[in-house]
Amino acid sequence: AAKADGKDRCREFDPRLRHEQAERFRTVERLRAGLAAEEFTVHYQPIVRMRGDATAGFEALVRWTPPGQDPIGPDRFIPAAENSGLIVGLGEWVLRRACLDAAPWWHTYGANISVNVSPRQLAEHDFTDVVRGALNAAGLPAAALVLEITEGVLVRSGGHAELTLAHLAALRAEGVRVAIDDFGTGYSSLAYLRDLPIDILKIDKSFMPDDATDAQQAAMVRAVVDLARSLRLVTVAEGVETAQHAELLRTLGCDKGQGWLFGRPGPAAAASDRLASEAAVTVS
Ligand code: C2E
Ligand code: MG
Ligand code: MG
Ligand code: MG
Repeated sequence: AAKADGKDRCREFDPRLRHEQAERFRTVERLRAGLAAEEFTVHYQPIVRMRGDATAGFEALVRWTPPGQDPIGPDRFIPAAENSGLIVGLGEWVLRRACLDAAPWWHTYGANISVNVSPRQLAEHDFTDVVRGALNAAGLPAAALVLEITEGVLVRSGGHAELTLAHLAALRAEGVRVAIDDFGTGYSSLAYLRDLPIDILKIDKSFMPDDATDAQQAAMVRAVVDLARSLRLVTVAEGVETAQHAELLRTLGCDKGQGWLFGRPGPAAAASDRLASEAAVTVS
């Protein structure tokens, strides 16, 4: 606590940090206004089965387009939204939007929807009800939904680790599946695999070999896939950019893949078109 106090005191008097703080405050104010003005959209990126390459589902990825500006990616505003707590409202909006968009995809094609959830959302008392509400409003069963959490979810729960785990347990009991996102980028990955109630492991894109002939890089991917399999987790590889990546993943028995090779994130209409044209090919 003493350390934290000291840090705060420094912040107050260091002009550079004060400037940063003011900057962050402005970002939060703009985010708040943007949420009210409906400047956010959700894009969808396909997640495909590695056996064959049918679309298994989509991941919802939020975008922000302030008036007169190009769309801003989440890496540039999610941190500010998390620090300010605004992520709770934004995350709920994304969840509800994604469930509504994905309802026909589920009912017509059996495609599921994955939504990213921040630790702040899971530390709210009503999170389980928020998820139930979003599913109900869209007419979706729990089985259609995957919640993506990161390794830091318990550490970053602001002392609400028990509540976080209770939400995840309640939702899983109802049929919602939980994926651990960006696996392998944190520093105590194995402990999290043991402690978190999860169904799916998403292998971070940094594991995709940049050199297809590098045996060591391939061995790393193999180790993660084998680990996930022995824990009976479904594996999803992120950042599948090349045919070599896909070939490696098929050889290793990875279940699903997501990346530019299979499709970039795009608006809901593009996701609908993709499913419709896939179905047309399958039928004929
Ligand atoms: P993520 O959940 O790991 O999402 C995957 C990110 O990888 C996306 O970036 C996607 O566009 C990008 N990506 C997909 N395929 C490829 C590929 O083949 N190569 C490369 N290099 N990148 C690829 P995006 O959309 O910029 O999202 C960044 C992060 O922001 C997400 O990472 C997620 O952690 C967070 N995020 C996005 N939407 C939400 C949201 O609604 N709520 C929360 N809490 N976080 C979100
Ligand atoms: Mg994700
Ligand atoms: Mg990810
Ligand atoms: Mg990632």
